[in-house]
Amino acid sequence: MTSSVETTLRGPEAYSLSRRVIDEMEAAGVWPTPLNFELWLHYLGDPEGALGREIQRLLAAREPFTEATADMLAAEYLPRGRLTEEIRDAGRVLDRELSSVADAISRAHKSQAAYGQTLDKAATSIESAGDGDALKTIVGGLSTATRRIQRENETLEKRLDASTKEVARLREHLEQVRRDAMTDALTNLANRKAFDEHLAAACDQAEAGGEQMVLAVLDVDHFKRFNDTWGHQTGDQVLRYVASVIARFSPPPRIAARYGGEEFAVIFPREDAAKVHSALESIRKEIGSRSLRRRSTNDELGAVTISAGFATHRAGDTGATLLERADAALYASKRAGRNRVTAAEALDRAA
Ligand code: GH3
Ligand code: MG
Ligand code: MG
Repeated sequence: MTSSVETTLRGPEAYSLSRRVIDEMEAAGVWPTPLNFELWLHYLGDPEGALGREIQRLLAAREPFTEATADMLAAEYLPRGRLTEEIRDAGRVLDRELSSVADAISRAHKSQAAYGQTLDKAATSIESAGDGDALKTIVGGLSTATRRIQRENETLEKRLDASTKEVARLREHLEQVRRDAMTDALTNLANRKAFDEHLAAACDQAEAGGEQMVLAVLDVDHFKRFNDTWGHQTGDQVLRYVASVIARFSPPPRIAARYGGEEFAVIFPREDAAKVHSALESIRKEIGSRSLRRRSTNDELGAVTISAGFATHRAGDTGATLLERADAALYASKRAGRNRVTAAEALDRAA
């Protein structure tokens, strides 16, 4: 998908496609932000691709196309293409390294075989050699052959050494790519993809070991109003602040993630509900107690608050069912007036 759009953008249709993107965004009532523009480019460049179909589904369902929606789509559909390309490049480099190492090894094999033959021949010649001169010639030939094989061994060693370094460099780069693909760029927390993987693994572990595990979801209260008042950039600054507090209260083995636009999640492996409740209360109080200032103008923004919900893993829970209960608890916190923490189990007892 990505590559075909990239090609179109450098071809004769580039400007007409871009104009069409603007028109279609306007028709759909979507702001022409850089991210929306990019999403729409890919959608119109390939309407039947996965991203295209998803955007069409959202438009047909008359879902509001918010910043959060755009972020979610980008996380799901845009970077993966980039990642695939990086991995393809890495594969090409590996291929090249491996085949050049294989060549060097096969050359070394041949040289060793030839050297063996030289030694055999010399042994036979020595048996029949009569005088000192003949022996000298044989030994001279042997030492030439030995020097040659030494040189070739050195070449092979250098080649292997260079390859080892190149592969190590590649591995480091791929590790960085993998980290980037798993990290939310705004907050540096784990992103949704990483979180989904961690959650599935944590559920498996809780299931297998019969261990406790708790999942929490946190959502900034009335954040739309905040954004509308102070602007998106200040909104982003607040998201970074909220993320930093959540991260501070979530040292490993806890895993904190940005789950969506202004929504966060924390996995608490091997912890019980009481400990999680108090950790979430600390996060809630810390965030709500700080009066924020806008960096650019030093305007007093007041405090933002968060609501949270959490659920304890039960036998048979998957990531999805656990998330559903934690979400229900979050929703209860919202309904009860926001700026509070609710346990899913408390809802169960009430019902
Ligand atoms: P509630 O208390 O019920 O959660 O209300 P809310 O306004 O926080 O919730 P709603 O889901 O209606 O709106 C979420 C808003 O979050 C929409 C959007 O303005 C904002 N938002 C989502 N993602 C981002 C982002 O990446 N940056 C910024 N600045 N704002 C975002
Ligand atoms: Mg919110
Ligand atoms: Mg929300």
